[in-house]
Amino acid sequence: MKSGSTVFVAGHKGLVGSAIVRRLSKDDAYRVITADRSTLDLTDARMVDSYFDRQRPEYVFLAAAKVGGILANDSYPGDFIRENLSIQISVLEAARRNGVSKLLFLGSSCIYPRLAPQPIREDALLTGPLEATNEAYAIAKIAGIKMCQGYRRQYGCNFIAAMPTNLYGPGDNFDLHSSHVLPALIRKFHEAKEEHRPTVQVWGSGKPRREFLHVDDLADACVHLMNVWDDGDIVNVGVGQDITIAELAEMVQDVVGYPGKIQYDATKPDGTPRKLLDVSRMASLGWQARIPLRAGIESTYRWFLSGAHDRTSAGTGVGAQA
Ligand code: GDP
Repeated sequence: MKSGSTVFVAGHKGLVGSAIVRRLSKDDAYRVITADRSTLDLTDARMVDSYFDRQRPEYVFLAAAKVGGILANDSYPGDFIRENLSIQISVLEAARRNGVSKLLFLGSSCIYPRLAPQPIREDALLTGPLEATNEAYAIAKIAGIKMCQGYRRQYGCNFIAAMPTNLYGPGDNFDLHSSHVLPALIRKFHEAKEEHRPTVQVWGSGKPRREFLHVDDLADACVHLMNVWDDGDIVNVGVGQDITIAELAEMVQDVVGYPGKIQYDATKPDGTPRKLLDVSRMASLGWQARIPLRAGIESTYRWFLSGAHDRTSAGTGVGAQA
């Protein structure tokens, strides 16, 4: 990205967008622009086009999306597919029409087949059936990837796409119905400790394996890709290691200092059995994750204790991305 250029971060109030803004402001080299939901509805193609026409961004990070954990995705598939498709169509088309130099689209590791060989390589895309609990979200994200690739081929747009693994960090959604597992566990163990409860419920069997990437690592990876990657092929962004949900629960329990017991709730879904990304493409581009999981959980817990999560708009609304 050229120094002094105008960079639009769509979804700046969400987990990913806020981290990208933090990362970009460290360099002090760019004019970073953002727009609140009250002034710019990203699902409204005409509004988005006129915003691009006025602001003339040269680089765009598309970090706006309707996101949520396993239960939210499973309960509201219609909303997940509609809102995500609408945002993608509005922003990608506005970027094309207004001559944006380069755009980074954020997908997700759930775009890959449920039983993809592990660790999952980028070429596993569209080789098998998806996980049912988040199929609608995954289909919207796959459509976004194909739109980026189609616009590159047909119009020559420099649109790239990064596929992050499960994310966490400051700015996360801690609402127990719509959140992902890591923030949910922080909240559950914290509240159980405060209220001296004897047990904490962890959904499913505890056996699924997941990989967790701190959002500040992802933001750094996105800026890196914006500077070095000019190709239509998608790029995985992860840490290269996974743990079981049971191991994660024990780690969060330890960080929070909760003395009680863990109970597994078999009435809740496990989702996909394993989701570990192959990160060799990113490594070959000279990037790797730096924040160890335990240190990341400790700093996210401190952020949670500061009460900041009550003041953010993260959640299943447009603007958050995971
Ligand atoms: P996923 O990666 O799309 O399945 O999304 P989640 O982060 O929501 O869930 C990951 C795994 O953690 C699933 O197996 C969940 O059943 C499990 N899990 C255990 N306890 C919780 C919880 O309190 N909230 C959520 N969201 N998931 C939980």
